[in-house]
Amino acid sequence: MVLQDLGRRINAAVNDLTRSATLDEKAFDGMIKEICNALVEADVNIKLVAGLRNSIKKTVNFKELAPGVNKKRIIQKAVFDELVKLVDPHNTPYQPKKGKSNVIMFVGLQGAGKTTTCTKLARWYQARGFKTALVCADTFRAGAFDQLKQNATKAKIPYYGSLTQTDPVIVAREGVDKFKKEKFEIIIVDTSGRHRQEQDLFDEMVQIQKAVSPHQTIMVLDSSIGQAAEAQSRAFKETADYGAIIITKTDGAAAGGGAISAVAATHTPIVFIGTGEHLLDLEKFNPESFVSKLLG
Ligand code: GDP
Repeated sequence: MVLQDLGRRINAAVNDLTRSATLDEKAFDGMIKEICNALVEADVNIKLVAGLRNSIKKTVNFKELAPGVNKKRIIQKAVFDELVKLVDPHNTPYQPKKGKSNVIMFVGLQGAGKTTTCTKLARWYQARGFKTALVCADTFRAGAFDQLKQNATKAKIPYYGSLTQTDPVIVAREGVDKFKKEKFEIIIVDTSGRHRQEQDLFDEMVQIQKAVSPHQTIMVLDSSIGQAAEAQSRAFKETADYGAIIITKTDGAAAGGGAISAVAATHTPIVFIGTGEHLLDLEKFNPESFVSKLLG
């Protein structure tokens, strides 16, 4: 992600200020301006950026800073905290429990990375001792089941799907029922990709949700879609009311600020980020460590 560039720019702005001989209010304002420009250029929503600017100003309260206090530390902490706030909606995601069947349903646009991420997440839980299985409820895209089958086989994860049944609701229900009976602890349901305007696909998503009653619905969001991420995540939220987000392709060339803005727009936590095409390219997301890493 060019997020690293964003991090570098923010860091440079803070360091320039704290190293400069004249740490006055004008220089402080200049630093905030540079941070805000960097965020806007990375596709972070402009209202969020304005909020961040006001919060940093208010927290640091430059005029009232007592002489002798460590201005540098106060400013650095304010910037760090505000960036964390940007990616932390203070909403705790669902925590799967051992010894029961936790059903997780994936939603998202076609090409966002759902099928790839399903297997990555299944492997993640499997590696942590959960009995894990995959259900392919994407009967819309030709080859979707084959793709899931291949991934699942590679990762040695049991899967369910059908080459003949065209109703995804039936496939989803059958798969989930089967794995529940067999006492699987994590059952991940992949659904077909859809576009905003395709009402019938949205209806299908709701029907699958009703049929399998997921404990958690996860929206998969491509980090490269920029500003469009916000409208998209809102549309999905209204229909599928997902409780968590996974941002994919963070290894790509996009700045990813749009995807970050989606978190704030929908008050939904990011749970993982995809960092590549391979099975192990999945990282658990934590707001503080994300920002620490961003700032290097
Ligand atoms: P779906 O239509 O939502 O199921 O999307 P797919 O899982 O088929 O993924 C679409 C493409 O994105 C595939 O070529 C994946 O290999 C690729 N992809 C998914 N996640 C990532 C990621 O985190 N990084 C990179 N570089 N590619 C990814």
